[in-house]
Amino acid sequence: MARDYYGTLGVRRDANADEIKKAYRRLARELHPDVNPDPETQEKFKEITQAYEVLSDPKKREMYDLGADPFAGGGGGAGAGFGAGFPFSDIMDAFFGQATARGPRSRARRGRNATLRVELDLSETAFGTTRELTIDTAVACTVCSGTGAEPGTRPDTCDMCNGRGEIQQVQRSFLGQVMTSRPCPQCGGFGSVIRTPCRECSGDGRVRTTRTIKVRIPAGVENGTHIQLAGEAEIGPGGGPAGDLFLEIVERPHAIFERDGDDLHCTVQIPMTAAALGTQVIIETLDGPEQVDIRPGTQSGQVIPLYNRGINHLNGNGRGDLMIHVNVETPTRLDDEQEELLRKLSQLRDEERPPGKFTPGQQGFFSRLRDAFNTGGR
Ligand SMILES: [Zn+2]
Ligand SMILES: [Zn+2]
Repeated sequence: MARDYYGTLGVRRDANADEIKKAYRRLARELHPDVNPDPETQEKFKEITQAYEVLSDPKKREMYDLGADPFAGGGGGAGAGFGAGFPFSDIMDAFFGQATARGPRSRARRGRNATLRVELDLSETAFGTTRELTIDTAVACTVCSGTGAEPGTRPDTCDMCNGRGEIQQVQRSFLGQVMTSRPCPQCGGFGSVIRTPCRECSGDGRVRTTRTIKVRIPAGVENGTHIQLAGEAEIGPGGGPAGDLFLEIVERPHAIFERDGDDLHCTVQIPMTAAALGTQVIIETLDGPEQVDIRPGTQSGQVIPLYNRGINHLNGNGRGDLMIHVNVETPTRLDDEQEELLRKLSQLRDEERPPGKFTPGQQGFFSRLRDAFNTGGR
């Protein structure tokens, strides 16, 4: 079924439009029926022309790259675009770079893409998850197999354009006779008319339904990440290929952790005495509770990193860190005994009238502000 159009033209899959055109021209000169009329060469010529027709049209090429062959099957001859001859218009295109006539267009069109929002918790984005999603979509009509014609009937060749899909008009102008063509108004350019549309789908070739799909969401996605699921959206009219389904990730805010890239940040409150004397606290991480050492003399604003306790990188290689910001609490209500003890401590440390020193630069809001204005210096 699937023909290798790239191989037929002898170009790489990532060849650009110019390379494709050049390859086709070279082969067409060699295999043109005028030059070489034997049947085998003619067959070859048809093949390269067909390959060129698909690969030179960005839309058809995209469909083909997604796995659909615009020439394969085609729904019971309704729009089998390639009749007896080959599309001379495209041969003309290739040699002279100008469109002339196009022939009937296929009824099969690609389905529309769709976007679905998926809400995830932080732990789901951190480790990945599997979701079952129910989507409102369109699938091929089983009664007519997507052709749109009632079973037992076929689309009739349009009698206005004789199946060509377009009407040609000869007009006189000061340059001489000019031929113009426009899509046939009776068949809409399809070249055929469905006189008895399928009763199930009213001729559309598809029916609306809900479908449940199971999707694996990788670790490391974040708010706004789009995941493309090729061919999982609605099928196209006339038996055309399905569009793509995009999942848009919406990450719910977490009660404790704030995400910055793949790192997480949280704040813990430590009493003044514990910060001075040192202690151990239990931190609830995404991987479960973890014991963290608070060293004696820990300052407010100090950051303790827990490496590899953040979000898994999307590329599957390692993970971010968890940054614990320490906030030292100064006691507010002291009973008599506590006040007595603190006064004593204050006396012992000779801190009853501290001089109110300025911190010398490295930390603090204003120095950070100053650094921000002096970037590039030093
Ligand atoms: Zn149908
Ligand atoms: Zn017509």
